[in-house]
Amino acid sequence: MSDKFDVVVIGAGPAGYVAAIKAAQLGLSTACVEQWLDDKGKVRLGGTCLNVGCIPSKALLDSSYKFHEAKADLGVHGISVSDATIDVPAMIARKGKIVDQLTGGIAGLFKHNGVTAVSGTGKVLAGTRVEVTDKDGNVQVLEAGHIIIAAGSLPINIPPAPVDGDLIVDSTGALEFQEVPARLGVIGAGVIGLELGSVWGRLGSDVVVLEALEEFLPMMDQQIAKEAGKIFKKQGLDIRLGARVTGSEVKDGKVTVSYSTADGEHTEEFDKLIVAVGRRPRSEELFSTDSGITLDERGFIFVNDFCETEAPRVYAVGDVVRGPMLAHKGSEEGVMVAERIAGKPAQMNYDCIPSVIYTHPEVAAVGKTEQELKAEGVPYKSGTFPFVASGRALASNDSDGMVKMLAHEETDRILGCHIVGPSAADLVQQVVIAMEFGSSAEDLALTVFGHPTLSEAVHEAALAVDGHAIHIANRKKRK
Ligand code: FAD
Ligand code: AMP
Repeated sequence: MSDKFDVVVIGAGPAGYVAAIKAAQLGLSTACVEQWLDDKGKVRLGGTCLNVGCIPSKALLDSSYKFHEAKADLGVHGISVSDATIDVPAMIARKGKIVDQLTGGIAGLFKHNGVTAVSGTGKVLAGTRVEVTDKDGNVQVLEAGHIIIAAGSLPINIPPAPVDGDLIVDSTGALEFQEVPARLGVIGAGVIGLELGSVWGRLGSDVVVLEALEEFLPMMDQQIAKEAGKIFKKQGLDIRLGARVTGSEVKDGKVTVSYSTADGEHTEEFDKLIVAVGRRPRSEELFSTDSGITLDERGFIFVNDFCETEAPRVYAVGDVVRGPMLAHKGSEEGVMVAERIAGKPAQMNYDCIPSVIYTHPEVAAVGKTEQELKAEGVPYKSGTFPFVASGRALASNDSDGMVKMLAHEETDRILGCHIVGPSAADLVQQVVIAMEFGSSAEDLALTVFGHPTLSEAVHEAALAVDGHAIHIANRKKRK
């Protein structure tokens, strides 16, 4: 193998593998260094997202939702499946197959596009060189025209609940339970805690989510967060806000968790405990001190809007840099950087990145929240539409939640959209596209939406912005 490349990427997660494929498509000789090994000691591509993140969690969310539907939701359609049972090892094995198929698919794409996969741990040295140490300790140095660091992130551990991989697990361990825990504790009511709590709750666990903050989903639009909180409560998810975990003890196959609230100290006993308190950038031992790369105060690799680090011709993308820790954010950064290396004037619109919590119903958002607009003093108007008024949602017996559209008071430009409801992830994408094209709420209002679809709720929310909704009583005066 040549040890000279136009581009060397470190990390083959969604930020790194996409950057590598794009660079190769643009005619640049490209290597992608990845340390992850499969059980046969071969390089494993796809990073957190494909192996232990987005994909396996969605596989389990879908399996568990089907079980829940069979058990609890089909009766209303006149269908009785009262003796539905769940074979947890079979469900986990199905998830494993999907992961294998997708990670293998990345290997195929690398081959097809001419990306060289290099197995080992990469470290950036001064002079755009990458030192790679393989599993046997062999070291090679790659000369790179440009380097893209995409080393990703790792789960945060907290001293009160040290992960033991058995009773106390992180998100990776929570994707591997071989039986349904009778009582499940989750620390952290963030995206990952809510998704994994939902998986096991649907399968029968009695789930308690302990969240230190008083506010539920503070980063989401608060009207939508409150609505989501009510729906989750109705579903039986016991989310305790203002509950800070202070300790844990593993004894006789159980874990006892201590936590404090405004009322004092409490304890709860669980069969399993998932620690889902966030992720941190994986930025240690990634570069030599003379490489010129710097970290910000939170340990993220410092980059500008174009993902350039402080070292010339060294870029960083994905979870290892500032911004939301989302697969698609990293992938788009990877594309931007590959294009810029190839001399194209690419840039990224950080104002238009959708985010989703894949509970049921889903919670999805793009753009500014109402509280952000208020804080920034931006004049805005809003329109909402509840799914209970959507014919399609009622037909599916899936009518919890609402769409909320925010637009500029004077220009009518769409500033944000927040949804809790069925297929919210796919619905919000329609607004992402509209926002990318600088659409006004009226542009969406004047668009023809198929009937009956859930998308009509987006249409009605856009109409409601100026008091023109048809299928609900408009509270505001028509403009
Ligand atoms: P990663 O995917 O973490 O990949 C980094 C890669 O770099 C890894 O393969 C690692 O082994 C490798 N690496 C690190 N250091 C080195 C080194 N020195 N040398 C060689 N290789 C190295 N995001 C979404 O958008 N949607 C979701 O639904 C979603 N669900 C999630 C569910 C869970 C349970 C979790 C944990 C995460 C989820 N995420 C989701 C987040 C998403 O997985 C991450 O944002 C995404 O994987 C980040 O991509 P990345 O390429 O930056 O890093
Ligand atoms: P996220 O970063 O979105 O995955 O969310 C993680 C959540 O975990 C945050 O809302 C934190 O407030 C919460 N958290 C962190 N530490 C603790 C703790 N000791 N007890 C309870 N919740 C915590």
